[in-house]
Amino acid sequence: MKILEINNLHSAVEDTEILKGVNLSLKTGEIHAIMGPNGTGKSTLAATIMGHYKYVVTKGSITLDGEDLLALSVDERSRKGIFLAMQYPNEISGITNADFIKTALQARMEAGQHLSLFKFIREMDKAVSDLKMHHDLPHRYLNEGFSGGEKKRNEILQMKMLKPYFAILDEIDSGLDIDALKIVGENINAMRGENFGALVITHYQRLLDYIDVDYVHIMMNGQIVRSGGKDLIARIDAEGYDWLRAELDLKDENEKMVAVLGSCGFKKVQE
Ligand code: ADP
Ligand code: MG
Repeated sequence: MKILEINNLHSAVEDTEILKGVNLSLKTGEIHAIMGPNGTGKSTLAATIMGHYKYVVTKGSITLDGEDLLALSVDERSRKGIFLAMQYPNEISGITNADFIKTALQARMEAGQHLSLFKFIREMDKAVSDLKMHHDLPHRYLNEGFSGGEKKRNEILQMKMLKPYFAILDEIDSGLDIDALKIVGENINAMRGENFGALVITHYQRLLDYIDVDYVHIMMNGQIVRSGGKDLIARIDAEGYDWLRAELDLKDENEKMVAVLGSCGFKKVQE
């Protein structure tokens, strides 16, 4: 089992503090969902875990099995098994999808080891067909001219091929139609296992209909303000966030929180 531990994390972008003390403990074998209104810091958390240069950690820590993740570069974090499916995947001209994934896989191997091309092609074909993607997508330039939904599926293709220990999926459901949502949800769920943990950032219940989520966290104003089980998803879907704002005495997203919520790690799902 591996453990990704986020402790009292504060992160700033362009001198504005966005994350204001996030506590989260993620183990392989578990799938966590993070929900929350727009602009509350969900993507900032994802970018900070992955090591985006614009996001500066001002306080707190992130460790992977006790090792300081913040001391590592983005590619080192990736090779340690952290994966980010971006909310807005970039288009990269001149590099085919297949070459991109092949290079990332090769970079994970010990010096002198080589990727088996036969195995790679076989796995890639299977992943493309699991995701019901068009068979020419591996040979096209990375995300170039892909539709919004194809870009999102392509992130999951990368995840399936790279088999990370921890996948952070930032609004992987945005831009997906109902059929694609099901395919993507089922493919994420199929990764469940002792060597895989995920943090699924989403606005809607729909994606979570297909994923067995162990814990649900709600983020507001740069903190995790509530953690629980799947029942939280249904309540948010039905009532939005106003009830929680009222409980927390939070009038507005940008207003300072009155309640002290520092110790919200996560709770066990109610059986
Ligand atoms: P969420 O993903 O929860 O919708 P974000 O983490 O994207 O929210 O954004 C949180 C806040 O941080 C927003 O107010 C946003 O404008 C600000 N922010 C995020 N990234 C940047 C950036 N690169 N430059 C300036 N402001 C940013
Ligand atoms: Mg976001």
